[in-house]
Amino acid sequence: MSVYVVGHSSPDTDSVASAIAFAHYLKATGTDAVPVVQSATLNPESKLVLDKFGLPQPAEFTDAGGKDVALVDFSDIAQAPANIKDANVVAIVDHHKIGDITTGGPILFYAKPVGCTCTVLHEMYKNNNVELPKNIAGAMLCAILSDTVNFKSPTCTDEDKAAVKALAGIAGVSDTDGLFMEMLKAKSAVDGVPIKDLIFRDYKDFDMGGKKVGICQLELATLDQVAPMRADLVKGLEAVKAEGRHSIIMMLTDVVKEGSELLVLSDEPGIIEKAFNGKLSNNTMWVDGMMSRKKQTVPPLQKAFGA
Ligand code: MG
Ligand code: MG
Ligand code: MG
Repeated sequence: MSVYVVGHSSPDTDSVASAIAFAHYLKATGTDAVPVVQSATLNPESKLVLDKFGLPQPAEFTDAGGKDVALVDFSDIAQAPANIKDANVVAIVDHHKIGDITTGGPILFYAKPVGCTCTVLHEMYKNNNVELPKNIAGAMLCAILSDTVNFKSPTCTDEDKAAVKALAGIAGVSDTDGLFMEMLKAKSAVDGVPIKDLIFRDYKDFDMGGKKVGICQLELATLDQVAPMRADLVKGLEAVKAEGRHSIIMMLTDVVKEGSELLVLSDEPGIIEKAFNGKLSNNTMWVDGMMSRKKQTVPPLQKAFGA
Protein backbone atom coordinates (compact mmCIF):
# COMPACT_ATOMS: atom_id res chain seq x y z
CA MET A 1 0.00 0.00 0.00
CA SER A 2 1.29 3.46 -0.93
CA VAL A 3 1.86 6.06 1.73
CA TYR A 4 -0.20 9.17 1.03
CA VAL A 5 1.86 12.26 1.84
CA VAL A 6 -0.44 15.12 2.74
CA GLY A 7 -0.16 18.68 4.10
CA HIS A 8 -2.75 20.68 6.00
CA SER A 9 -6.23 21.71 4.82
CA SER A 10 -6.42 24.94 2.80
CA PRO A 11 -3.04 23.93 1.42
CA ASP A 12 -0.37 26.59 1.08
CA THR A 13 2.71 26.32 -1.10
CA ASP A 14 4.69 24.64 1.69
CA SER A 15 1.98 22.00 2.16
CA VAL A 16 2.00 21.24 -1.57
CA ALA A 17 5.77 21.41 -2.11
CA SER A 18 6.62 19.45 1.02
CA ALA A 19 4.12 16.71 0.09
CA ILE A 20 5.83 16.41 -3.31
CA ALA A 21 9.33 16.59 -1.81
CA PHE A 22 8.69 14.11 1.00
CA ALA A 23 6.90 11.62 -1.30
CA HIS A 24 9.92 11.73 -3.62
CA TYR A 25 12.26 11.28 -0.66
CA LEU A 26 10.30 8.27 0.61
CA LYS A 27 10.32 6.67 -2.85
CA ALA A 28 14.04 7.32 -3.24
CA THR A 29 14.65 5.62 0.11
CA GLY A 30 12.52 2.56 -0.63
CA THR A 31 8.97 3.39 0.51
CA ASP A 32 6.22 3.64 -2.08
CA ALA A 33 4.60 7.06 -1.64
CA VAL A 34 2.36 9.49 -3.47
CA PRO A 35 1.91 13.23 -2.82
CA VAL A 36 -1.68 14.42 -2.31
CA VAL A 37 -3.46 17.63 -1.29
CA GLN A 38 -6.62 18.26 0.69
CA SER A 39 -8.22 20.45 -1.95
CA ALA A 40 -8.76 20.09 -5.68
CA THR A 41 -8.37 23.86 -6.02
CA LEU A 42 -4.97 25.20 -5.10
CA ASN A 43 -4.33 28.83 -4.24
CA PRO A 44 -3.01 31.02 -7.07
CA GLU A 45 0.51 31.09 -5.65
CA SER A 46 0.79 27.30 -5.47
CA LYS A 47 -0.61 26.96 -8.99
CA LEU A 48 2.01 29.39 -10.28
CA VAL A 49 4.78 27.43 -8.54
CA LEU A 50 3.70 24.07 -10.00
CA ASP A 51 3.34 25.59 -13.48
CA LYS A 52 6.68 27.35 -13.26
CA PHE A 53 8.58 24.20 -12.40
CA GLY A 54 6.52 21.81 -14.52
CA LEU A 55 5.18 19.74 -11.63
CA PRO A 56 1.78 18.01 -11.89
CA GLN A 57 -0.83 19.00 -9.31
CA PRO A 58 -1.10 16.27 -6.65
CA ALA A 59 -4.43 14.42 -6.50
CA GLU A 60 -7.12 15.45 -4.06
CA PHE A 61 -7.25 13.48 -0.78
CA THR A 62 -9.92 14.22 1.79
CA ASP A 63 -10.47 10.95 3.70
CA ALA A 64 -7.55 9.28 5.49
CA GLY A 65 -9.59 6.43 7.02
CA GLY A 66 -7.77 3.09 6.75
CA LYS A 67 -4.85 4.57 4.79
CA ASP A 68 -1.13 4.82 5.44
CA VAL A 69 -0.38 8.54 5.63
CA ALA A 70 2.62 10.80 6.16
CA LEU A 71 1.87 14.33 7.35
CA VAL A 72 3.82 17.39 6.31
CA ASP A 73 3.52 20.96 7.60
CA PHE A 74 1.00 20.12 10.38
CA SER A 75 0.10 17.71 13.15
CA ASP A 76 -3.28 19.08 14.27
CA ILE A 77 -6.45 17.00 13.91
CA ALA A 78 -8.37 20.18 13.00
CA GLN A 79 -6.19 20.57 9.88
CA ALA A 80 -6.19 16.90 8.86
CA PRO A 81 -8.25 14.97 6.30
CA ALA A 82 -11.44 13.30 7.57
CA ASN A 83 -11.06 10.13 9.67
CA ILE A 84 -7.42 10.80 10.54
CA LYS A 85 -8.02 8.88 13.78
CA ASP A 86 -8.61 5.72 11.69
CA ALA A 87 -5.49 6.27 9.58
CA ASN A 88 -2.06 4.74 10.07
CA VAL A 89 0.23 7.76 10.46
CA VAL A 90 3.72 6.54 9.49
CA ALA A 91 5.68 9.83 9.48
CA ILE A 92 5.43 13.53 10.28
CA VAL A 93 7.76 16.28 9.02
CA ASP A 94 6.89 19.73 10.28
CA HIS A 95 7.93 23.14 11.57
CA HIS A 96 4.94 23.98 13.81
CA LYS A 97 4.12 23.34 17.43
CA ILE A 98 3.32 19.68 18.02
CA GLY A 99 -0.41 19.22 17.50
CA ASP A 100 -2.89 16.69 18.88
CA ILE A 101 -2.36 13.81 16.44
CA THR A 102 -1.08 10.71 18.23
CA THR A 103 0.09 7.34 16.91
CA GLY A 104 -0.15 3.75 18.11
CA GLY A 105 3.51 2.98 17.45
CA PRO A 106 6.84 4.69 16.90
CA ILE A 107 7.11 6.75 13.72
CA LEU A 108 9.57 8.94 11.85
CA PHE A 109 8.89 12.32 13.43
CA TYR A 110 11.15 15.15 12.32
CA ALA A 111 10.32 18.73 13.21
CA LYS A 112 12.46 21.81 13.67
CA PRO A 113 11.65 25.39 14.66
CA VAL A 114 12.58 26.80 11.26
CA GLY A 115 10.62 28.90 8.78
CA CYS A 116 9.36 26.17 6.48
CA THR A 117 8.82 22.40 6.26
CA CYS A 118 10.80 22.41 3.01
CA THR A 119 13.84 23.63 4.97
CA VAL A 120 13.52 20.55 7.19
CA LEU A 121 13.14 18.34 4.12
CA HIS A 122 16.15 19.93 2.43
CA GLU A 123 18.19 18.94 5.46
CA MET A 124 16.86 15.36 5.26
CA TYR A 125 17.84 15.14 1.59
CA LYS A 126 21.30 16.47 2.38
CA ASN A 127 21.95 14.33 5.43
CA ASN A 128 20.91 11.15 3.66
CA ASN A 129 22.52 11.92 0.30
CA VAL A 130 19.23 11.70 -1.59
CA GLU A 131 19.42 13.38 -4.97
CA LEU A 132 17.04 16.31 -5.33
CA PRO A 133 15.48 16.83 -8.79
CA LYS A 134 15.70 20.35 -10.19
CA ASN A 135 11.93 20.93 -10.41
CA ILE A 136 11.26 19.73 -6.85
CA ALA A 137 14.10 21.95 -5.60
CA GLY A 138 12.37 24.88 -7.36
CA ALA A 139 9.07 24.22 -5.60
CA MET A 140 10.84 23.85 -2.24
CA LEU A 141 12.65 27.13 -2.83
CA CYS A 142 9.30 28.86 -3.48
CA ALA A 143 7.78 27.34 -0.34
CA ILE A 144 10.58 28.76 1.82
CA LEU A 145 10.32 32.22 0.23
CA SER A 146 6.56 32.11 0.77
CA ASP A 147 6.55 30.83 4.37
CA THR A 148 9.30 33.24 5.47
CA VAL A 149 7.80 36.15 3.45
CA ASN A 150 11.12 36.51 1.66
CA PHE A 151 13.06 36.25 4.97
CA LYS A 152 11.02 39.02 6.67
CA SER A 153 8.99 36.77 8.95
CA PRO A 154 10.27 36.33 12.52
CA THR A 155 10.02 32.58 11.86
CA CYS A 156 12.91 32.82 9.39
CA THR A 157 16.22 31.30 10.51
CA ASP A 158 19.74 31.09 9.07
CA GLU A 159 18.91 27.52 8.07
CA ASP A 160 16.09 28.79 5.85
CA LYS A 161 18.43 31.29 4.20
CA ALA A 162 21.06 28.61 3.61
CA ALA A 163 18.43 26.24 2.19
CA VAL A 164 17.21 28.94 -0.22
CA LYS A 165 20.75 29.46 -1.44
CA ALA A 166 21.33 25.76 -1.99
CA LEU A 167 17.93 25.13 -3.59
CA ALA A 168 18.23 28.16 -5.90
CA GLY A 169 21.52 26.68 -7.11
CA ILE A 170 19.93 23.31 -7.85
CA ALA A 171 16.85 24.86 -9.46
CA GLY A 172 18.88 27.34 -11.52
CA VAL A 173 17.13 30.41 -10.08
CA SER A 174 19.37 33.48 -9.90
CA ASP A 175 16.91 36.14 -8.71
CA THR A 176 15.01 34.88 -5.65
CA ASP A 177 13.68 38.39 -4.82
CA GLY A 178 12.14 38.55 -8.29
CA LEU A 179 10.68 35.09 -7.80
CA PHE A 180 9.15 36.19 -4.49
CA MET A 181 7.57 39.29 -6.06
CA GLU A 182 6.11 37.13 -8.82
CA MET A 183 4.60 34.87 -6.16
CA LEU A 184 3.34 37.81 -4.07
CA LYS A 185 1.59 39.19 -7.12
CA ALA A 186 -0.19 35.87 -7.62
CA LYS A 187 -0.98 35.30 -3.96
CA SER A 188 -2.30 38.79 -3.26
CA ALA A 189 -4.55 38.96 -6.32
CA VAL A 190 -8.00 39.72 -4.91
CA ASP A 191 -9.91 41.34 -7.78
CA GLY A 192 -12.82 39.21 -8.89
CA VAL A 193 -12.06 36.48 -6.35
CA PRO A 194 -15.12 35.27 -4.41
CA ILE A 195 -15.03 36.37 -0.74
CA LYS A 196 -15.19 32.77 0.47
CA ASP A 197 -12.12 31.90 -1.58
CA LEU A 198 -10.24 34.83 -0.04
CA ILE A 199 -11.18 33.66 3.47
CA PHE A 200 -10.14 30.06 2.81
CA ARG A 201 -7.05 30.86 0.72
CA ASP A 202 -4.92 30.45 3.84
CA TYR A 203 -7.21 29.32 6.65
CA LYS A 204 -6.67 27.26 9.81
CA ASP A 205 -8.91 26.17 12.67
CA PHE A 206 -7.53 25.83 16.18
CA ASP A 207 -8.85 24.46 19.43
CA MET A 208 -8.16 27.09 22.08
CA GLY A 209 -9.20 26.04 25.56
CA GLY A 210 -12.13 24.08 24.11
CA LYS A 211 -13.21 26.92 21.80
CA LYS A 212 -13.00 26.68 18.03
CA VAL A 213 -11.05 29.60 16.63
CA GLY A 214 -10.49 30.17 12.91
CA ILE A 215 -7.53 32.25 11.75
CA CYS A 216 -7.02 33.18 8.11
CA GLN A 217 -4.35 35.31 6.52
CA LEU A 218 -4.21 37.34 3.34
CA GLU A 219 -0.76 38.58 2.43
CA LEU A 220 -0.97 41.84 0.51
CA ALA A 221 1.40 44.30 -1.08
CA THR A 222 -0.83 47.05 0.39
CA LEU A 223 -4.06 47.10 2.44
CA ASP A 224 -5.62 49.29 -0.29
CA GLN A 225 -6.06 46.09 -2.27
CA VAL A 226 -8.95 45.04 0.00
CA ALA A 227 -10.40 48.50 0.73
CA PRO A 228 -13.42 48.09 -1.59
CA MET A 229 -14.37 44.70 -0.15
CA ARG A 230 -14.07 45.20 3.61
CA ALA A 231 -17.81 45.08 4.31
CA ASP A 232 -18.14 41.90 2.23
CA LEU A 233 -15.19 40.31 4.02
CA VAL A 234 -16.83 40.97 7.41
CA LYS A 235 -20.09 39.45 6.14
CA GLY A 236 -18.24 36.41 4.84
CA LEU A 237 -16.38 36.01 8.13
CA GLU A 238 -19.70 36.27 10.01
CA ALA A 239 -21.03 33.36 7.98
CA VAL A 240 -17.96 31.21 8.70
CA LYS A 241 -18.12 32.08 12.40
CA ALA A 242 -21.80 31.07 12.45
CA GLU A 243 -20.73 27.49 11.62
CA GLY A 244 -19.94 26.95 15.29
CA ARG A 245 -16.83 29.00 15.91
CA HIS A 246 -16.20 31.10 19.00
CA SER A 247 -14.01 33.51 17.08
CA ILE A 248 -12.72 34.15 13.62
CA ILE A 249 -9.76 36.37 12.89
CA MET A 250 -8.56 37.50 9.50
CA MET A 251 -4.99 38.78 9.30
CA LEU A 252 -4.64 41.30 6.50
CA THR A 253 -0.87 41.34 6.32
CA ASP A 254 0.89 44.26 4.66
CA VAL A 255 4.12 42.65 3.49
CA VAL A 256 5.71 46.02 2.69
CA LYS A 257 4.76 47.84 5.93
CA GLU A 258 5.41 44.65 7.89
CA GLY A 259 2.33 44.40 10.06
CA SER A 260 -1.22 43.07 10.05
CA GLU A 261 -4.64 44.52 10.42
CA LEU A 262 -6.86 42.04 12.23
CA LEU A 263 -10.52 41.68 11.30
CA VAL A 264 -12.10 40.12 14.37
CA LEU A 265 -15.49 38.54 15.02
CA SER A 266 -15.76 36.92 18.43
CA ASP A 267 -18.18 35.93 21.15
CA GLU A 268 -15.67 37.49 23.55
CA PRO A 269 -13.72 40.22 21.72
CA GLY A 270 -12.09 41.15 25.03
CA ILE A 271 -10.00 37.97 24.86
CA ILE A 272 -8.58 38.99 21.50
CA GLU A 273 -7.93 42.55 22.71
CA LYS A 274 -6.12 41.12 25.73
CA ALA A 275 -4.05 38.77 23.54
CA PHE A 276 -2.69 41.59 21.41
CA ASN A 277 -2.81 44.33 23.97
CA GLY A 278 -4.95 46.59 21.81
CA LYS A 279 -8.44 47.93 21.27
CA LEU A 280 -10.79 46.85 18.51
CA SER A 281 -12.60 49.58 16.68
CA ASN A 282 -15.12 48.58 14.03
CA ASN A 283 -13.96 44.95 14.52
CA THR A 284 -10.40 45.83 13.50
CA MET A 285 -7.01 46.51 15.03
CA TRP A 286 -3.56 47.05 13.54
CA VAL A 287 -0.70 45.04 15.03
CA ASP A 288 2.67 46.44 14.04
CA GLY A 289 5.26 43.85 13.03
CA MET A 290 2.78 40.96 12.92
CA MET A 291 3.65 38.73 9.95
CA SER A 292 3.41 35.18 11.26
CA ARG A 293 0.24 33.42 12.38
CA LYS A 294 2.25 30.60 13.91
CA LYS A 295 4.66 32.72 15.90
CA GLN A 296 2.84 35.99 16.58
CA THR A 297 -0.89 35.29 16.40
CA VAL A 298 -1.51 31.80 17.74
CA PRO A 299 0.67 31.82 20.91
CA PRO A 300 -0.75 35.03 22.46
CA LEU A 301 -4.27 33.85 21.62
CA GLN A 302 -3.69 30.47 23.24
CA LYS A 303 -2.42 32.22 26.33
CA ALA A 304 -5.41 34.58 26.41
CA PHE A 305 -7.81 31.67 25.94
CA GLY A 306 -6.07 29.79 28.74
CA ALA A 307 -5.25 26.92 26.39
MG1 MG B 1 1.62 25.75 5.88
MG1 MG C 1 4.89 25.73 6.44
MG1 MG D 1 1.91 30.76 5.67
